[in-house]
Amino acid sequence: ILTFTGNLNHKKYSMLANQSDDTVNKKVDSLMALMTLEEKVGQMNLYNGFWDVTGPVPKEGSAKTKYDHLRKGWVGGMLNVKGVKNVRKVQKIAVEETRLDIPLIIGFDVIHGYKTLSPIPLAEAASWDLVAIEKSARNAATEAAAAGINWTFAPMVDISRDPRWGRVMEGAGEDPYLGSKIAKARVHGFQGDDLKKDNTIAACAKHFAAYGFAEAGKEYNTVDIGTSTLFNTVLPPFKAASESGVKTFMNSFNDLNGIPVSASKYLQRDLLKTKWGFEGFVVSDWASINEIISWGHAKDKKEAAKIASLAGSDMDMEGYVYIQELVNLVKEGIVEEVIINDAVKRVLKVKYQLGLFEDPYKYCNTKNETERIGRKAHLYDALDMAKKSIVLLKNTTKLLPLKKEGQKIALIGPLAADKNSPLGSWRTASDDHTAISVLEGMKTYKGNSVKYAKGIDLIIGETSFIKEVNINTTSRDGIKEAIEVAKHVDVVVMVLGEHGFQSGEARSRTQLDLPGLQQELLEAVYKVNKDIVLVLNNGRPLAIEWASENIPSIVVGWQLGSQTGNAIAQVLYGDYNPSGKLPMTFPRSIGQIPIYYNHKNTGRAKNVENNVFWSHYIDQENTPLYPFGFGLSYTQFAYKNIIIKGSDFSINDAVNISVEISNIGDYDGKDVAQLYIRDLVGSVTRPVRELKGFELVLLKKGDTKTVEFVLTKKEFGFYNNNGDFIIEPGDFEIYIGGSSNANLKSEFTLR
Ligand code: BGC
Repeated sequence: ILTFTGNLNHKKYSMLANQSDDTVNKKVDSLMALMTLEEKVGQMNLYNGFWDVTGPVPKEGSAKTKYDHLRKGWVGGMLNVKGVKNVRKVQKIAVEETRLDIPLIIGFDVIHGYKTLSPIPLAEAASWDLVAIEKSARNAATEAAAAGINWTFAPMVDISRDPRWGRVMEGAGEDPYLGSKIAKARVHGFQGDDLKKDNTIAACAKHFAAYGFAEAGKEYNTVDIGTSTLFNTVLPPFKAASESGVKTFMNSFNDLNGIPVSASKYLQRDLLKTKWGFEGFVVSDWASINEIISWGHAKDKKEAAKIASLAGSDMDMEGYVYIQELVNLVKEGIVEEVIINDAVKRVLKVKYQLGLFEDPYKYCNTKNETERIGRKAHLYDALDMAKKSIVLLKNTTKLLPLKKEGQKIALIGPLAADKNSPLGSWRTASDDHTAISVLEGMKTYKGNSVKYAKGIDLIIGETSFIKEVNINTTSRDGIKEAIEVAKHVDVVVMVLGEHGFQSGEARSRTQLDLPGLQQELLEAVYKVNKDIVLVLNNGRPLAIEWASENIPSIVVGWQLGSQTGNAIAQVLYGDYNPSGKLPMTFPRSIGQIPIYYNHKNTGRAKNVENNVFWSHYIDQENTPLYPFGFGLSYTQFAYKNIIIKGSDFSINDAVNISVEISNIGDYDGKDVAQLYIRDLVGSVTRPVRELKGFELVLLKKGDTKTVEFVLTKKEFGFYNNNGDFIIEPGDFEIYIGGSSNANLKSEFTLR
């Protein structure tokens, strides 16, 4: 059913956006009645303005063409224009110099903050804290809106099981259940409860769909996955975003089972718009309509424009395809005007819903720009979010928390004093080198005095875009000094990992180790002092098997944004007891990828009688280094006593489950209680575990709480290979605990 048959029988489907919102529809209809075909196609055209807008109007070149088009009313929106002054400049042309004065929609990648940067999205996901995540998106929207932006290209809701793919930093990890909850929280955060307000912006669920399954984790690569993975793993967070009222979707660069996604009528028109009833518009990814040609699915721009518009790509981002081809395609009778009308109606509706027709300068308020960007409260929230995102992987000798005084501490590593890297990829409007470094954070904390040694440099050429960030330095000059510093202290804190530019778009890696000379530095220091706390700065799961075997304490510090150093210091000193849980599996080695917790059992899992041919490697264990959902605390939690209320359940019943959690350690703390199910027999093979509920539980030391979960159809069911959601009777196991490898178990049967 994923195959595009070439039969463009679009009349089969309800083409127009749902008519529920009467007034807006009437306004849009009356406006559209006045529009020429060229003006309509203009609404489907999104131009990049990054290099053009800030200076004077150019006399020639593509920027001049863009201004000309803008004046003719042939531009529906612009991206990469920020700051009230600049946005006002282009908006003024749209609403004062064009024939119909239709305002522009102004888009930007507001991914983890505008000026105040929160942790990268993958890090935020590690908090499992939906309230904090929503707030982070809310603050980002408030700042972006004050800078003239009314549309963010976020959230990225792509599920991925491949940490080689650099964009995992921008998503919520590997799990569709957690991913769906976070998608909803982020959409609500950006869009708020009323889009008419001047601090809410339209969100965009991206990249629809399956971009996270790029083969071999190589950016922009082909995607070839089965229907079960598509329906059960890839699509749920998109569906959740749609159900949460997200105003726009972005399609993706990849092809899916042979069809470039921008050309996929199945995904965009049949599934998203018709089956799910999505009323907003679909924007292409950057030039992805143009790239239908390089995929070899269209011979030229004309064919690409035809295929993409019929498929339901409503807006062409910087591809120059629609603006050059669509008018003629309609005039020649190749594309019916009803296709154009549907797309334009969707775009105009969102503009109405944003309140742009009532006040096109609504987001161009200099007072808001001064008052709302970089607010103290936002910094405070960013710090809170950063602390919640940190994951403690190991603390065997209880080096952590650090003693507040009387300890000699060394801080070592190329990322320890770095103020740029912790900002991560996608910084929108944050100036470079503005993060609080770990060194600064440790000093501000006023705990023990800290001796710092960089050891080595990580990368050459910080600002270069794609290739150069992978060039690691080769100088070992600083290692000696690091060893000397490490020799004379009680605890060595080493800050190692990836530079902020080593993950993100176009940052795929074939190795998941500590890049450059960092492993060498780590081992050299370890030789003279084994009391090491390894603080990772990473945009993806890393394969750090040696560290995991040898280093007593390991903390995942991701790229935590503006407040990185303060958050890390407060966690290391125990002011905040770590509570993060991995949203993505950490593999032992590259060869295990894709490795994820909700895998299938196989016909030859180890518990099958004949142990010889069980599904495994001859040179590596099956288990990951650290599983999904895993994360320690300075205290310990014990789970016991699962109680299932009742015993005779039909598929229509709700199953109420409770469990007791006790804090049996020495500190107050918070655990994420996670519930997993296993559906033992299914008409489509079922995963060994599936997350179906979680609860953040705050417990004082010595305390016990009962936590309740409710499972309903939504949790029992799954998608069959036709994309239908079905619920099958049968036996279910449940597992509850603080990780996906929890072993407290119970079961129930659905009849
Ligand atoms: C990315 C999108 C992004 C767009 C606009 C593309 O290269 O894939 O996620 O929103 O650029 O910056």
